[in-house]
Amino acid sequence: MNSENQSIHQIDFDLICEYFSNFERQGPGSPDVTIKALSFIDNLTDESRITDIGCGTGGQTMVLAQNAPGRITGIDLFPKFIELFNANARKLNLQDRVEGITGSMDKLPFQDEELDLIWCEGAIYNIGFERGLNEWRKFLKKRGYIAVSEIAWFTEERPEEINRFWLDAYAEIDTIPKKVAQMQKAGYLPVATFILPEYCWTVNYYEPQVSIQEAFLERYKGNKAAEDLVAFQRHEAELYRKYKEYYGYVFYIGRKI
Ligand code: SAH
Repeated sequence: MNSENQSIHQIDFDLICEYFSNFERQGPGSPDVTIKALSFIDNLTDESRITDIGCGTGGQTMVLAQNAPGRITGIDLFPKFIELFNANARKLNLQDRVEGITGSMDKLPFQDEELDLIWCEGAIYNIGFERGLNEWRKFLKKRGYIAVSEIAWFTEERPEEINRFWLDAYAEIDTIPKKVAQMQKAGYLPVATFILPEYCWTVNYYEPQVSIQEAFLERYKGNKAAEDLVAFQRHEAELYRKYKEYYGYVFYIGRKI
């Protein structure tokens, strides 16, 4: 298996964590997209309880906190991301309303019907879209909202190279209508769906990685895992440039029925 075909999941977690700690965001997104998704949600007050699942270092969480009332708990598997998350909250003087904790999205520390809003940008793929929507639903109050973003196919058919790459990375990748139907089936009213602009991948995600990749390779000269990680990221960025008409990132907003 050459490095291009190696799954990101097989590459050392500490290295991935160090690599992505360099960025404000760990997936495709932007502040205006977070604010747009928030515009479909109308139930929030100062008393609201919100979680941001797979929050990373909290780029989108801080935007959320600055544009919505309520208390937010960010949850991520990696302690280093949570450390940076809480430092970011303090820097922005949001520490009274925003707290990051280490934990896993398959064992969330909430009571049934405790939450007004579940947020999850670019992270639900770790548990799978359908499983996440189904398992997290019980934590929401009646008429509570869920807002998640993940990758989708834009066309019914696509070239084999890109088809294989994304099916291997995320077997649940599918078209937008299929995802909307899954949301309805899981017990949510699909309130809105929109496609993230291209700059969320290019300017905000792949381009900031270029200089970090150079520094990373310099620092980890001869380290195969580090080289594989950079090769994988470069390959993914190249595929995006080549095949972006076939796929992209999509936000789905649903309300618990
Ligand atoms: N929401 C952030 C980060 C997206 S990257 C953003 O949009 O910028 C995906 C995140 O999911 C990473 O921070 C990763 O550490 C986290 N993650 C992976 N598996 C997880 C799990 N089982 N539980 C919680 N977080 C997880």
